[in-house]
Amino acid sequence: MNRSGPLHAGEPVLLIDRKRRRYLIDLVDGGEFHSHSGVLPHDEIIGQPEGETFRSTRGMVFIALRPTITDFVLKMPRGAQVVYPKDIGPILIMADIFPGARVLESGLGSGALSTGMLRAGAEITGYEIRDDFEAKARENVGRFLGTDALDRYRTEVDDLDRIVLDLPEPWQVIPHAEKALRRGGIMLAYTPSIIQVSLFHEAFEESRFGMAETTEVLHRGWYVNGAAVRPDHRMVAHTGFLTHARLLDE
Ligand code: SAH
Repeated sequence: MNRSGPLHAGEPVLLIDRKRRRYLIDLVDGGEFHSHSGVLPHDEIIGQPEGETFRSTRGMVFIALRPTITDFVLKMPRGAQVVYPKDIGPILIMADIFPGARVLESGLGSGALSTGMLRAGAEITGYEIRDDFEAKARENVGRFLGTDALDRYRTEVDDLDRIVLDLPEPWQVIPHAEKALRRGGIMLAYTPSIIQVSLFHEAFEESRFGMAETTEVLHRGWYVNGAAVRPDHRMVAHTGFLTHARLLDE
């Protein structure tokens, strides 16, 4: 969204009255801002530079400014508790968010932190357990950053059914999997070493996962040629162990 030049339809604008009260509105062609102090047509504001003063039908004076990210986050509709702007700033630096950074975010809530990271240029894959929050986060992001930003904001409602891993320490994922999986969901990991399998099972003991099983698949081809019908001489002796478990109650 173009955030300089004249104010244009489709962008949010902050109206500030004499008593410093702030109203966040979205400029729409033909729209009207109604308050106790009368009506202010959006068309008077559209095309004007930031910082102009406008007068409502009942003589109330408003200054129109583009909201900063702080103004927006504090005024936008919120379902869940948001990360406040005071914390969004340090997060961007501490997590070293850069343009094009591919970021996994979970717990999207109202999208405040997402808005900050997207604005810093991140490409987010976001997981949220509640579809109403996922929708709210997308709405807020699109409203402040423009719908183009949504191309960098892939969101999924989790409550996952399955987690499938091929990485060295799958047990590290167990505490997160307990939160992200639905009950009855399955976590599976492929691990080359039996030591990994032991550690994985030990970690399951301390978790809500149960019914853990480990399988090794030996795939033996057969040579079939007339009367010569026998196993192949060669086979791949080892690849990895397959371990899976289901998320149960406490
Ligand atoms: N950071 C957000 C606020 C997040 S509030 C913002 O700045 O606006 C925490 C969110 O985590 C809530 O929306 C809640 O629904 C979500 N949540 C809770 N458990 C979750 C889980 N297991 N997976 C994904 N999201 C989860």
